[in-house]
Amino acid sequence: MGQSRSLEGRKMRKRIGKRLLAAAAVIMAAVCLFASACAPAPRKNTAAFFDYFDTVITLTVYSNDAALVKRAKEEAEACFSRLNALFDIYNEYEGVANLASVNRRAGETVKVDPDIIALVSAGKRYYETTGGALNIAMGAVLKLWHDCRTAAEADPENASPPDPAALEEASKHCDIDNVVIGEGELTLLDPAMSLDVGAIGKGYAADRAAEKLDALGAPFMLNCGGAVLTNGKKPDGSDWIAGISDPAGGGGFIAEVPVSRAALSTSGSYLRCFTVGGKRYGHIIDPATLFPAEGTESVSVLVPGFSAMDADALSTACFILGRDRGEALVSAFGGASALFALPSGERAYTSGFPGR
Ligand code: AMP
Ligand code: MG
Repeated sequence: MGQSRSLEGRKMRKRIGKRLLAAAAVIMAAVCLFASACAPAPRKNTAAFFDYFDTVITLTVYSNDAALVKRAKEEAEACFSRLNALFDIYNEYEGVANLASVNRRAGETVKVDPDIIALVSAGKRYYETTGGALNIAMGAVLKLWHDCRTAAEADPENASPPDPAALEEASKHCDIDNVVIGEGELTLLDPAMSLDVGAIGKGYAADRAAEKLDALGAPFMLNCGGAVLTNGKKPDGSDWIAGISDPAGGGGFIAEVPVSRAALSTSGSYLRCFTVGGKRYGHIIDPATLFPAEGTESVSVLVPGFSAMDADALSTACFILGRDRGEALVSAFGGASALFALPSGERAYTSGFPGR
């Protein structure tokens, strides 16, 4: 009798224990739900960097974690600062063998950072994929145009394009096969040649910064002049939207493009140019004519993934190649799509471009 009563007592205690546990679980779930409903939405934080790649770079990060936001800003800036110094072709820096050093020492072998090797290797690949339209070894020609543009900015009245004979002479020193990549070293075989990575350098830097930022786990958007890159959607599930400026000016947009874990790059002649006798000279030079490409007003290329360098290379190349050859180039490039703003005001899209 005594035994059966104590058995029943144990069963009863077990039942009560189970009910208490179930009740506790329900309360915990409700508390969690309440807490998540009350958790503040991730805050939008922005930072702007003015000193790199000759453009304004902005970073937007959604997070309420102040330490994470601080780290994101610091890591992005450190990345742009380091790569800007390495890829600079106009200034040399104490203790750094950058592209300005490589150009000054053309004819010699120079030990360089792995990021320079990676960028120049990519440049050689783009030369092949764009049929020579994009040529980072065209520094000698691009320098003549750069100098005229700089002089025109200082003294617009006396602006002039480069002398065609000087362009012709410079074009003899643009052979990309004379750029030789060794184990951690670079040689420009032609002492009169130089590199200009303006078409792909900031895209490369944006990709490296994006890798660092993505590891922090918060949604972000990087805007580096003409290139926009994100790591997915915003915290509320909506898309990041990048506006493509109207090349005719006026501050409006010709398209608003969702950029979700993708990169969008725009190249346009209206961005950096000078005018002589009413004629505008842009900064993107067609190697076939040695003069600014003129077939389009702007080209925007969207590429999935952290591929701002691909988008950067393709938008510049498409601007040079024009609509038909540009469309063919983009269509052959897995997952990429493009919007061409033509001088007639017409817009041409390749298949897959959002909102076409
Ligand atoms: P983006 O703004 O990315 O379209 O690049 C334009 C920059 O690329 C110019 O300012 C030059 O530094 C460089 N560039 C211009 N024409 C060429 C070309 N045909 N091949 C390689 N780089 C070029
Ligand atoms: Mg480019």
